[in-house]
Amino acid sequence: MGTESATFTPMEPSTFYPGSAEIKKRVNDIEEKCQRRRLLLREASGFRPTLLGPSTFSEKYYKQADALEAAREHSTRQDPLCTFVYQDHYNEGRRMFIVAHPEVYWHSFIRQKPERRCTYEVIAEGAPCWLYLDLEFQTSLNSDSNGPSMTKTLLEIICAFLKKYWDLQYTDKNVLNLDSSTRTKFSRHLIFCTKNVAFKHNIHAGRFIKSIISEIEEYVASNGSAFHEVLSFFPLKDLAALFVETGKKKTIFVDTMVYTKNRHFRIFKATKWGKLSHLEVSTDCTYEPTDQRKDKMLSIFLDSLISFFPDNSTLTLLEFNHDSSIDIKKFPRGLSQNHRFLTQNNATMTESPYPTIDKFIGKLVHPGHIRCSIYFEDSKTVIYEILGNRFCANINRHHKSNNIYFVVDLKEKIYYQKCHDEEDCPGFRSNFMPLPVEICFLLDEEDDDIFFNIPDSDESHSSIRCDISIEQE
Ligand SMILES: [Zn+2]
Repeated sequence: MGTESATFTPMEPSTFYPGSAEIKKRVNDIEEKCQRRRLLLREASGFRPTLLGPSTFSEKYYKQADALEAAREHSTRQDPLCTFVYQDHYNEGRRMFIVAHPEVYWHSFIRQKPERRCTYEVIAEGAPCWLYLDLEFQTSLNSDSNGPSMTKTLLEIICAFLKKYWDLQYTDKNVLNLDSSTRTKFSRHLIFCTKNVAFKHNIHAGRFIKSIISEIEEYVASNGSAFHEVLSFFPLKDLAALFVETGKKKTIFVDTMVYTKNRHFRIFKATKWGKLSHLEVSTDCTYEPTDQRKDKMLSIFLDSLISFFPDNSTLTLLEFNHDSSIDIKKFPRGLSQNHRFLTQNNATMTESPYPTIDKFIGKLVHPGHIRCSIYFEDSKTVIYEILGNRFCANINRHHKSNNIYFVVDLKEKIYYQKCHDEEDCPGFRSNFMPLPVEICFLLDEEDDDIFFNIPDSDESHSSIRCDISIEQE
């Protein structure tokens, strides 16, 4: 502190209680040190952030819970951090956790020697995630099995189920197909990078995959005797070829154990400890990266992360519930607790908070009907997805394949029609039409009381079964 002196002088109180100038200096010193450390870290990792680049936060932890907590604490909406777990070669493979922005982590990861790249992404409990699969079988027990061809069949089946349940159109071009097969084992990861549509969390993704597997098992066991709206379109021999011998039983080559809480999932270019079988893009992968960076590897890595969503403001979340009912939600903006959503059974309309409006829209679209309604509390709007009536005011006739939907604006007491046909009607919105007087009256009367009956978004949903397609507004 520089207070030592040969001559005796009474100490100033500021020596004990540093004044604001002193505190400021100390803070500056610390900041300078931190800055220097950051620079050193960047140099060591080869990472050069731009002014608006990702967070340079990067810390190691011994315990997963601490790492996950830090990731939550230091993530921002624009700059989410990931938790990785790696096996430390300085420490006999002991598992360590690191929290960092994936772009920052990638630069240090990829500079390590290949045999030291033993890293897994921690898919945090409750976090939105891509649909992902771990495919594997022992080649020695299944010499007749053609892994790439089985993968292709399975991928097509899953796309067909995504179409069936949610009316989502995906192909192999949306799927990152990573391979780490060896002479003895066929091993792949499939990651459905479906732009702004993700699963609510990996438990839902797991239920979806398990339900598909059990449908395939049943269908193959019955020799395809009953018509199945997805599986009947696949040759029975291709479906039967998905089964492999494990030494204990014959089963489909999908590891269904990878959908547990805080699951560790090996990252792109990583190998298992003590092996040299890195996950690489498979030779038959046709995936087109969403992000066209100069650094192709980095683009693939960022896309391949199961629960990294740099822009979740437009994320739509899929649910697959225990009773195989499905649901869809928008990612709650700002994690607001009052952002609620509803879907509804297309046979009954009783679940909506606005039965009178449901009835009105139901009559309007007759002989079509409401597939589901989604209520957005913050904008006070209800979206009605319509099935069986594709009349679009833009083209003044019915669309052949794309559906239409109605938007009801409760604040303005109007409604209008919109369209899912991206080609003929991009951004189309019909004229505003006033809601019937009796509905306006009810809205005025009930005002906010009408919201009291809405279930909370995190409660389990009663049996909801609907085919939903939803377009981002
Ligand atoms: Zn249209």
